[in-house]
Amino acid sequence: MKKHNFYAGPSILPQEAIQATADAILNYAGTGLSILEVSHRGAEFIETLAQAEALFGELMDLPAGYKVIFVGGGASTQFFHVPYNFLQHKAAYLDTGSWSSKAIKEAKLFGEVTVVASSADKNYSYIPTGYEVPADADYFHITSNNTIFGTEILQDPIVPVPLIADMSSDILSRPVDVSKYTLIYGGAQKNLAPAGLTFAIVKVDALGKVDRPLPSMVDYRTHVGKDSAFNTPPVVCIFTALQTLKWIKANGGVAAMEKRAIEKSTLLYDEIDRNKFFVGTVEADSRSRMNITFVMAPEYAELEKEFLALAAEHGIVGIKGHRSVGGFRASNYNALPMESMQVLVDAMQAFEKAH
Ligand SMILES: *Cc1c(COP(=O)(O)O)cnc(C)c1O
Repeated sequence: MKKHNFYAGPSILPQEAIQATADAILNYAGTGLSILEVSHRGAEFIETLAQAEALFGELMDLPAGYKVIFVGGGASTQFFHVPYNFLQHKAAYLDTGSWSSKAIKEAKLFGEVTVVASSADKNYSYIPTGYEVPADADYFHITSNNTIFGTEILQDPIVPVPLIADMSSDILSRPVDVSKYTLIYGGAQKNLAPAGLTFAIVKVDALGKVDRPLPSMVDYRTHVGKDSAFNTPPVVCIFTALQTLKWIKANGGVAAMEKRAIEKSTLLYDEIDRNKFFVGTVEADSRSRMNITFVMAPEYAELEKEFLALAAEHGIVGIKGHRSVGGFRASNYNALPMESMQVLVDAMQAFEKAH
């Protein structure tokens, strides 16, 4: 049976990217060797790395003075690399979910942290507005898409200090004005590549402003200066990332990804709003296009397992919600076809008919 992959991460990748990776595992760039067994300093991989960096930059429409870097450690490692590199006295954070909270916890190890607003009061079901960012903060940190709670910040906040964003789960899903940011980072396993790769888009002249000494691997300048090859980068993940980037370009770039994301997410949100068995968990103006969270309506709560079983019969995989929200979460990353979203909506309608 055809599977419809709604996992939140690691998650669906373009079939072309998976196939090209499978081919490279057997014979990489005509070398007669597997990509698993060649030097990261060889001509072939240096070319792959350069292409991945360049194409990422092209798709993100990078302004002059910015650099894409690829490292390891996941977004969770960036949670402390950010304050290590940028927090001199005080940082401001917006608390919109578990990932923001984890970033805040790490930042507190380096200095004063002001949480300008939090939606914890309503289980992170909305994006706070109307907050003020102190003008003397070294930076303001946001989580643009809250993978667990299904909220998204679709408009770049306008703030008087450098803006830093964890875009792990909505990178490359819509055009972003990179010039508004000092740093954008994320784990690649949501919308770009297999687990093990972390990306960062850095404003180069904003680096090196803190007093503390930085270990080489923590210092963004190391990776900027060595084109992401200071140490051994996650070679296979970077290869797959390049294939995903090529797929995005061939399919119209990030503007086209945004259009698809809107179409697919609207299809599902409309069904959630129409079908009396289901309710969305997020306030309408904070809804994420990437992670769509919903639960059984309270009067049908006991039917949750039954719907999961029915979904499985339709080939739907990975829609069980995160334990902090419960219910269901359908992740709508770039590579998810409209057909899969339609299958989910059909399953919800079949469920309605059956009851
Ligand atoms: C998944 C995720 C993380 C954690 O990423 P790791 O690469 O596992 O460390 C952080 N932030 C967001 C928004 C995420 O979705």
